[in-house]
Amino acid sequence: MPKKLVLIVVDGMTPAAFEHAVESGRAPALATLAAHGTYRTAVSVFPSLTPVCLTSIATGAGPDVHHIPSLVWWHRRERRIVEYGSSFRALRAAGLSQSILDTIYNMNQRHLAAGATTVYEALEDAGLVAGAVNITCYRGRTRYLPTLPGVTKPAYGPKRFFYYSLFESDATGAPFAVGNRGGGSTDVYAAAVGRWLVTRDGFDLLVYYLSDFDYASHARGPEGAHEIALERVDGAIGALIDAAGGPDDFLERYAVVLHSDHGQTNVAHAARLEEAFSQFEHEIVVAASNRAGQVYLLPDARVDATTLAWLLDGNPAVETTLRREGEDGVARREGEELRFRPTGDGWETSGDRSILDHPDALHRSWSALANPNAGELLVSAADGWELADLGGSHHAGGGSHGSLGAGDSLVPLLTVGIDAAPSRITEVAPAVLEHFGVALPASMRALAHAR
Ligand SMILES: [Zn+2]
Repeated sequence: MPKKLVLIVVDGMTPAAFEHAVESGRAPALATLAAHGTYRTAVSVFPSLTPVCLTSIATGAGPDVHHIPSLVWWHRRERRIVEYGSSFRALRAAGLSQSILDTIYNMNQRHLAAGATTVYEALEDAGLVAGAVNITCYRGRTRYLPTLPGVTKPAYGPKRFFYYSLFESDATGAPFAVGNRGGGSTDVYAAAVGRWLVTRDGFDLLVYYLSDFDYASHARGPEGAHEIALERVDGAIGALIDAAGGPDDFLERYAVVLHSDHGQTNVAHAARLEEAFSQFEHEIVVAASNRAGQVYLLPDARVDATTLAWLLDGNPAVETTLRREGEDGVARREGEELRFRPTGDGWETSGDRSILDHPDALHRSWSALANPNAGELLVSAADGWELADLGGSHHAGGGSHGSLGAGDSLVPLLTVGIDAAPSRITEVAPAVLEHFGVALPASMRALAHAR
């Protein structure tokens, strides 16, 4: 039998933060894993925003397959905004109770494409046991009622399932997860659950998601968050190693993949994308958050995506826009355009190829555009800029992510005891299934197109 596997996802940790932690001599757990593993950088998806990234990690597929388009989007059939938590003000603007339902239940039960098999479903269908701690893409086949008295709406997760104290497959005695977000209570909860699971060796795959790094990095900027990697992230991983009886026993028992979902960059300015389109406000819906935006044409709109793209020429907050024109994708940057379309094993392009000079940009742009829930115009913000959300909130003065740019898109990726070299976050789930000898579901075989 192959070793069991722990997949650690640290939200928003940049390659620099990971490397700094390993080299500092003050992050023993990360240093131990790095000393036994192979390190590289890998590429996120676009938009490089957490719900899109975590769903891509759990399904081993891009937004074209899993259909989660962004942190905030327009639901065409239901004619309403879906907001997964850009900020508290944005949640309130979108309707708080609807947004909570969307984030906790609907993202997995309704928005995630039925045809996108999760790594938990694939493993458990093969008779193995999967665990998920706090990751927002959790869809599995076991029914759970919330721990809140009086709430009877079930969720469906893997056999070992822990979600911010709200769903718990086992009574672990872990402290309440959301008591003090800024103080790191979410990762303290994850660590307590992880310690319990490793002590009992209660899984074949454990997906262990640590969210506090991103929270700190938004407030302090990516460099300002380096200390968080040393203290909290290392502590939460060290809890697993200790529970196994130390590094030798841990690595004897488990293979490890450790990576983040996206990077972060410093932002100094914020803009409201809506202001660029004020003359069309009754014909479109603008859904922007962090460093990405989606613009949707309402059914009776007379304006088209090409006109909207032109209106953003010279806008300092915008670097690149993407849209579909027939069979082509069109990227526009500083008034220049690149047309692209996938061929059997590569890309046919015309125009200035340097317009999409970001990591893995053709592949990621096409995947974002081919999502049926995507807007007609996608916006990638310029360096240093953020697009304010529905509630007007932003992180100017701190850190953010979401764009096609390298700083938002490159992630550290460490593999220990597994024969795979994933170079995209979407290649991790297929690598995990191959490690266990489980056949890839059709939705993971859709991985198309070279760089
Ligand atoms: Zn974030």
